[in-house]
Amino acid sequence: KLAGIDSLKCDNHYATLPAHFYNKQMPDGISDPKMVSLNPQVLALLGLDNADADSDALLQLCSGNYLPSGFEPLAMKYTGHQFGHYNPDLGDGRGLLLAQVKGCDDAVNTTWDLHLKGAGKTPYSRQGDGRAVLRSSIREYLCSAAMQGLGIPTTQALSVVVGSDAVMREQVEQAAMVVRVAESHVRFGHFEHFYYTQQLDDLKLMLDYTLTKHFPDALTADVPYLAFYKQVMTTTAELMAHWQAVGFVHGVMNTDNMSILGQTFDYGPFAFQDNFDPAYVCNHTDYSGRYAFNQQPQVGYWNLMALGRALTPFMDVESLNAVLQTYDDIFLAKFRELMRGKLGLQQVHDTDGELIKNLLEILAGSAVDYTYFFRSLSDFDSAEDADNSPIRDQFIDREAFDAWVVKYQQRLVLESSVDEVRKVRMNQVNPKYILRNYLAQQAITQATDYDYSLVNELLEVLTNPFAEHPEFEKFAALPPEWGRKMVLSCSS
Ligand code: AMP
Ligand code: MG
Ligand code: MG
Repeated sequence: KLAGIDSLKCDNHYATLPAHFYNKQMPDGISDPKMVSLNPQVLALLGLDNADADSDALLQLCSGNYLPSGFEPLAMKYTGHQFGHYNPDLGDGRGLLLAQVKGCDDAVNTTWDLHLKGAGKTPYSRQGDGRAVLRSSIREYLCSAAMQGLGIPTTQALSVVVGSDAVMREQVEQAAMVVRVAESHVRFGHFEHFYYTQQLDDLKLMLDYTLTKHFPDALTADVPYLAFYKQVMTTTAELMAHWQAVGFVHGVMNTDNMSILGQTFDYGPFAFQDNFDPAYVCNHTDYSGRYAFNQQPQVGYWNLMALGRALTPFMDVESLNAVLQTYDDIFLAKFRELMRGKLGLQQVHDTDGELIKNLLEILAGSAVDYTYFFRSLSDFDSAEDADNSPIRDQFIDREAFDAWVVKYQQRLVLESSVDEVRKVRMNQVNPKYILRNYLAQQAITQATDYDYSLVNELLEVLTNPFAEHPEFEKFAALPPEWGRKMVLSCSS
């Protein structure tokens, strides 16, 4: 009898592109693999269940030691702009697209890319060893689940597996692998590659492939490539709005890390805001602060410009610019919508922009914990003489808070807001649990000692971050001193 994973139906459409779009090769598996964690929701997406979860075949697949029939692993070629500079030598340097498989829902007809990260050297590895370590694999795995739980577009992660092989970074670390699951692994950099090498027939092929597989609506538009660009612009602008609203810093917004589907892609030295700091730079090697939290919307725009340039052989610059010019409005509309939700507001008023801006200023001014503040704001008592000290006391500058509260209170009255009803609404959009860096670090420290319980507990809580989890109250705690505003190494 075939195990579930042997019955996965492949539709390897990327492999039907010309051979120079990728390098076909086998994964280099890791030794003595152990399953650190497996995400049951992602398993279900693939139409697999708990019986498959325990199968040795799945463990061997997730560690690069076994390929079901029909799998045709390949490393994709792409390039991109890193920190503003074009790098022609990129590509899957330590990950392979193992296969594209049909999802559980035949009606929707989604195919899922199964990408094995840490699968060994490829022609695009440059000086790298093609490996991933346990630390960075756990971070990608947990943050994918966290983003999904928060309702923010993201790639997903099926599994983390650890092996006995040693990998050299700043110190010796354990080799690990993640199976990343996404509708597409096409990046802005795929198009840049063919543009900068002036392989225009291939560029057109890449575009037509992407539209056919992922942008069927654009295909039927008057100018399909323009409609495609518009969709990428929109989803990217909205993704930036999500990141800003939840307080997520990506850390490495290079164009090779930009998903064509507008999903959060490639989790490296990311962070969530704790003590709110708009200028927070979480990437240790980002000396100039290019990817600081408050730069992200502009970087999204810059990256879309880079993508647009790659499309100029087939589109006039004026049309591309006209699309780009709507970016700010789309970003701002989405950002305000999300922030109104966080404040429990349902109506749209002219003064909302100012109310939000003021709040962000005073949160920054008092370095208030971003997530904790919004969660606690659901308890705000809008009666005029109310005591809101649990919220107020989070501010060093209490007068600034008092001044803002007057405006917030008026705004609530304006839409006849009912406190109890507003509280329910706010708790559905303001997470109680986020993947704070200190939590990820604790889970990693334990896992390094072969104890994977924290990873699995965090997975459970982050999958459902708006609900109360009384048994896991510890995960809602503010960071200890060592865990605040952590700066992370890019080495992974
Ligand atoms: P990233 O900063 O994760 O977006 O990676 C940038 C580029 O470096 C990509 O082309 C990766 O495939 C490659 N890369 C990252 N880590 C490694 C590694 N350990 N071995 C080989 N290539 C790597
Ligand atoms: Mg990358
Ligand atoms: Mg990376």
